Amino acid sequence: ARSDGLEGQVSGARVIAQALKTQDVNYMFGIVGIPVTEIALAAQEVGIRYIGMRNEQAACYAASAVGYLTGRPGVCLVVSGPGLIHGLGGMANANMNCWPLIVIGGSSERSQETMGAFQEFPQVEACRLYSKFSARPSSIEAIPSIIEKAVRSSIYGRPGACYVDIPADFVNLQVNVNSIKYVECCMPPPISMAETSAVRMAASVIRNAKQPLVIIGKGAAYARAEESIRKLVEQCKLPFLPTPMGKGVIRDNHPNCVAAARSRALQFADVIVLLGARLNWILHFGLPPRYQPDVKFIQADICAEELGNNVRPAVTLLGDINAVTKQLLEQFDKTPWQYPPESEWWKVLREKMKSNEALSKELASKKSLPMNYYTVFYHVQEQLPRDCFVVSEGANTMDIGRTVLQNYLPRHRLDAGTFGTMGVGLGFAIAAAIVAKDRNPGKRVICVEGDSAFGFSGMEVETICRYNLPIVLLVVNNNGIYQGFDTDSWKEMLKFGDATTVAPPMSLLPHSHYEHVMTAFGGKGYFVQTPEELQKSLRQSLADTTNPSLINIMIEPQATRKAQDFHWLTQSNL
Ligand code: ADP
Ligand code: MG
Repeated sequence: ARSDGLEGQVSGARVIAQALKTQDVNYMFGIVGIPVTEIALAAQEVGIRYIGMRNEQAACYAASAVGYLTGRPGVCLVVSGPGLIHGLGGMANANMNCWPLIVIGGSSERSQETMGAFQEFPQVEACRLYSKFSARPSSIEAIPSIIEKAVRSSIYGRPGACYVDIPADFVNLQVNVNSIKYVECCMPPPISMAETSAVRMAASVIRNAKQPLVIIGKGAAYARAEESIRKLVEQCKLPFLPTPMGKGVIRDNHPNCVAAARSRALQFADVIVLLGARLNWILHFGLPPRYQPDVKFIQADICAEELGNNVRPAVTLLGDINAVTKQLLEQFDKTPWQYPPESEWWKVLREKMKSNEALSKELASKKSLPMNYYTVFYHVQEQLPRDCFVVSEGANTMDIGRTVLQNYLPRHRLDAGTFGTMGVGLGFAIAAAIVAKDRNPGKRVICVEGDSAFGFSGMEVETICRYNLPIVLLVVNNNGIYQGFDTDSWKEMLKFGDATTVAPPMSLLPHSHYEHVMTAFGGKGYFVQTPEELQKSLRQSLADTTNPSLINIMIEPQATRKAQDFHWLTQSNL
């Protein structure tokens, strides 16, 4: 019997934790404070891992990455008012990426509502714009069903973010154990298939294609459709192109991957099979001049409202990507067909790939110092373990890195995504490392950051060191946003005035020793200026399976990507 007279009683915090655990939610990221500290403690008690972060934004990015990587949402736990507001960036990013996420926000006491309570804010209302579902349980007894609904909503249909608001007075309130009914774990999302007639029509459009192309998006990665998509591509001998996070659904070095001829492939394809990717800015809206005006899109997506956005598709396949791809495969099993490997289209694509690859190699082989982006990424690629997670952000760092750094496994690339969010890198890397620790011990996480991108969440290095996550952080440092200045030009410039009046807004402090951020917390830090130093520090970092490291790589402050056929949208993700 308990001495506190609370026998048979349970706290609101405990109910929340137990309800989450019952829904098979296993990871919680957050920052504690009034009124949510007890929720984090209760979560640990029921066996949910709790990872304390340094900013709610990063915590929310981390929780959302868990959802993408495991198919089960992670939780981001935040305090009321500003805590929740800091987390909104992560919610928006998750929702834009169609990744499942649960945000639990403490909120002010119900009895003080509208009185100017501590950190009072209309949180349920605020979250509506950033989520699929946003609600406050009406009582402690209602918590389990609201949490079940939030978890279910986050993974059913198009995945996304869900918010549950917990008033401060719920957290420590004790109720009778018997008054709480935990709702059974929600069923896995039902799998929907496309109409048979549409599948038949799609197969026939593919058979008649002269210049076909398959585009694989992160929806296909999320749907775990890698097996069926690889079969379709190999059986029909189709060229394919991954979107940034579609990379790895089929390995990047697959002979049918035409990523190195991306612009060419998009521009001249006559039939495009779009598997879990939206025709948004990343894919140039599916419109000319980046595409043929009469290109036929076969659009497969789980979200009906997505079908027909920006283009009028030739065929729409509403359903789960894996199921729909299998339906297509059945058609090609019944009446086998393959796209002729000797076609002119393949020749065009192969030639373009060859010349693009040669150009990158040439840039990479430049011996001049400071190094350029290509030199850096070629040396990194040489040493990357095949099964590692690659997390990347920063403008040029991410864009150029993506073309050189290869993915061999699905869901192993995490980057700025649909929303083009900078600051996601460290949160994503922490999530990947935590998930790897549980599921694939020994698997490495390489986080490739621009110096500007690193700055958004740099203090999460402390989190990395606290949990002893052997992440290898690379900061590709050009002293600025897009571009920067070398030390001499910086000093020269300051002769003409105060930095606030003369320094271009893009510049950051030259020659910054970001590696000290890592050594400050006991990790390994390296400052490198030459290919040899880069190779050596990378080798040491990868050999060290227990400690995190940060390699600060100085590159030419004015380095850019190679010239593009299309100059508009080059600042963008692709
Ligand atoms: P990318 O950034 O790779 O282009 P997007 O995020 O734009 O990808 O598109 C992903 C698409 O995948 C979204 O439209 C989403 O509705 C869809 N999607 C998510 N899960 C599934 C699934 N299981 N089956 C089919 N489509 C899915
Ligand atoms: Mg930079």
